[in-house]
Amino acid sequence: MVFEVAIIGAGLGGPALALELLSVPNVKCTIYEMRPEGFEQGQHISLAPNALRVTENIGIFKKLKGIGNSYEELHFRNAQGSPIATFHNGKESDYGYAAMRIHRRHVQQTLVEECLTKRIKIVTDMRLKTIHEQSGTSKVQLTFENGQTVFVDFVAGVDGLHSVARKYVAPGAEDVWAGMLGVTGYLQKSKLHSSINRITLPSHFIGQNGFIAIMPSDRSGNEIGFFSTMDFPEERSRAQWTELFNDKNAIREILRAIYTKDHGWCDLVDSIGRVVVLGDAAHAMIPTGGLGASLALEDAECLAKALKHASSTNFDSSALKQSLGTWEEHRRVRLALVQEFTNRNRRLRQPGGSWLTQTIKEWAVWLLFKFVGSGGMAEAIYQYDTKQFEKMLLPV
Ligand SMILES: Cc1cc2nc3c(=O)[nH]c(=O)nc-3n(C[C@H](O)[C@H](O)[C@H](O)COP(=O)(O)OP(=O)(O)OC[C@H]3O[C@@H](n4cnc5c(N)ncnc54)[C@H](O)[C@@H]3O)c2cc1C
Repeated sequence: MVFEVAIIGAGLGGPALALELLSVPNVKCTIYEMRPEGFEQGQHISLAPNALRVTENIGIFKKLKGIGNSYEELHFRNAQGSPIATFHNGKESDYGYAAMRIHRRHVQQTLVEECLTKRIKIVTDMRLKTIHEQSGTSKVQLTFENGQTVFVDFVAGVDGLHSVARKYVAPGAEDVWAGMLGVTGYLQKSKLHSSINRITLPSHFIGQNGFIAIMPSDRSGNEIGFFSTMDFPEERSRAQWTELFNDKNAIREILRAIYTKDHGWCDLVDSIGRVVVLGDAAHAMIPTGGLGASLALEDAECLAKALKHASSTNFDSSALKQSLGTWEEHRRVRLALVQEFTNRNRRLRQPGGSWLTQTIKEWAVWLLFKFVGSGGMAEAIYQYDTKQFEKMLLPV
């Protein structure tokens, strides 16, 4: 029997899941992506050791290493550039991998190319509209905006922040405004002020009234990515965000105003157990952990293991439900750990406020890293290997 899987979304988690599913007997999977072929999207992202471990397992790590900027140390500095602490964002000797800064499009394209090489079908211009499970049949019906309909045995919704699959799996789940804004961009190193030459990059600058990161983002180190995350209480509609995104002057003003002066959970599996959500569709993270992609890749690898486990029973409904239940439980615990780390980073990046509180903060950060070491309490995040999950799957 062939078990047909539809993966919604060819971002990061979707193609990773398809590659992982190659090792599951009798599974045939197709990726449906709403964007046209060759569409490029995103900005520079950091891939932590736990993300790179997954990319190694699916055979794309070496390609990424030839493109991205590998680094181990991330320097925390104050607004004047003075060092406060050093954090190991990755470390080959401890985690098996350094960290990597790379443009998201390179990661997404490499994943898609690997899928095409391995003959995984990707159908573009297919925007999922509705999901329908008929009672009395194990088939799920998917309808796309272009009017096409397909019937499959299982659906993995890896369709990002504005997920249609999530609306089906967890109809009551509400989007929660996290009260943060991220501004990001990049330029060539030669365009930076010469003062940058006395500062070791990558560095995160935690100032009295703001945070900014400056990070080499390609293999040569000439492409320099920068980003700033800030508390931004004012929620806006999607149209208003698009308007702001297109208004570069307004964005410059937001940054200038700072730098010139010196969660919610939803279900991951539907009630019948034939539709799941993962990646950003299930748990978009605030941008202070640099771990959203890691989580999408981990989710995908664990889901493939859960499906492989259920494949020994030909995907019998109760075996599938049991495996997926274990997957959901495991991922929730993992997500809570990552969210704690992400929230801690948010506090670290928040402006100190007055001169006094900023000084106290800089000393507190210095003392913390002196005490916990350069691992910065991220060891459990970066050491994570999905083999941990395999051991949790009970016989079906
Ligand atoms: C500015 C920025 C910086 C970031 N920095 C980092 C970082 O440093 N480190 C890190 O780990 N993470 C970072 N992230 C987060 C990371 O990019 C995401 O967590 C990751 O891309 C999630 O992968 P995903 O596959 O779940 O979703 P996505 O990558 O968003 O992919 C979803 C895919 O689904 C498609 N889709 C959506 N709706 C439909 C539909 N109805 N039908 C068909 N297809 C659909 C979309 O077109 C897209 O291709 C950052 C994000 C942003 C925005």
